[in-house]
Amino acid sequence: MKMFGTNGIRGIVNGYMTPELALKVGKAIAKVLGPGAIAVAKDTRTSSDMIACAVESGLLSMGVDIADLGMVPTPALQYYVRTHPNIVAGVMITASHNPPEFNGIKCVSSDGTECSHEEETAIEDAYGTDIECPGWDGVGSISRISDAGEAYIDAVVSKVDAELIRKAGLKVCLDCSNGAASYTSPLLMRKLGVKALAINASPDGRFPGHFSEPTEDNLADLKRIVSESGCDLGMAHDGDADRCVFVTGSGRYVPGDQSLAILGRSAASKSGGGKIVTTVATSCVVEEAVRQAGGEVVYTAVGSPIVAREMMADGAIFGGEENGGLIFADHQYCRDGAMAIAKMLEAVAGNGSLDSQVDSLPKFFTIKAAVQCPDSLKAPVIREIAERHEGERVNLTDGLRIDYDDGWVLMRPSGTEPKFRVYSESKDRGTAEKRSEAFLREAAGIIGARRAENH
Ligand code: MG
Repeated sequence: MKMFGTNGIRGIVNGYMTPELALKVGKAIAKVLGPGAIAVAKDTRTSSDMIACAVESGLLSMGVDIADLGMVPTPALQYYVRTHPNIVAGVMITASHNPPEFNGIKCVSSDGTECSHEEETAIEDAYGTDIECPGWDGVGSISRISDAGEAYIDAVVSKVDAELIRKAGLKVCLDCSNGAASYTSPLLMRKLGVKALAINASPDGRFPGHFSEPTEDNLADLKRIVSESGCDLGMAHDGDADRCVFVTGSGRYVPGDQSLAILGRSAASKSGGGKIVTTVATSCVVEEAVRQAGGEVVYTAVGSPIVAREMMADGAIFGGEENGGLIFADHQYCRDGAMAIAKMLEAVAGNGSLDSQVDSLPKFFTIKAAVQCPDSLKAPVIREIAERHEGERVNLTDGLRIDYDDGWVLMRPSGTEPKFRVYSESKDRGTAEKRSEAFLREAAGIIGARRAENH
């Protein structure tokens, strides 16, 4: 039974995501990732206590001991799992950026990375079986851990030049989105000597400030406060704070691929080169900025666990996706919102204002569109387009990408909807638009013909 999506098991609370499901998932996790102690943490959602209790009950019934970290960001849980050898896995109760009625269960391997697809499939398989529990004297117990958030922030501080940041006398606006970073990221600011106006920093799972997806539309208050109160920059987390996006001192939203480019450039110039991993859906702004700093970009399919594992295989120094999920190899191989803040503060303190760093990036235009396609036709349509473009620079890492001297087009099957997302990028807006239109026409023609054949 397919339960795991790209970011754990998700659903509407007391709809799909019930305590009964969570309890059984807890037992399945214990069977696959145990034996040994498992750490559990949660975000600020109103249902997180309910789902955490049910998962923990399932784990305990299987004889697993639990380290309960309470409400901390996902990367704080991942850091705890990796740095405690007695902990064999982690479970995060969160639906990340989804609306408040959702919750989810996300699993972490013993090395602190997100569970692999194979581990998730094994948990799904176990869920579908009758799992036998030990006797009354074999059940587990819970230890409450209260300092996991602070230990994580101390580790983040140790990975940057804190003195350089302190001396810069920066002032920022920090939007915690009423989520899991409501205590840890303000603490990070104090430890780095950064003056911070914190907004939406009371943990509240109804997300009264704005929806917890840090899109430009949701961050109107942050943009206004940053520019009106003379802040050097602003930053915002998603609900579980594995991601972070930035706003410049003049109140401009920085798209995720631009922060990836700025931090990739900074990482490459600091270490005199090195590899940066990102996905085929990321703008060329990253490759060009990183190359100028002496680094090299490696491309993968979309998905942060894929990026993280490629970084480990390549010995890459930095990586991430264009949605604000950034991974720093010197800290841990997972998306890390607080680490992203600390590295960005270091980059601003060392290299100048975020406005000037954004302005110095090469300019690209990206057109995003979509074309409807039934799931069953996605693979044959990709094959047919690849055949038609034989001899061109076709890349089948994830969907179909064709590179040109001045840009690229990408057609990626949506994982959740019957459609392809189509991206076209070029330094020239007209070229990007023309290629997008031509590609959409070609795809729609092939999809239409195949649909007609099937009828
Ligand atoms: Mg998240």
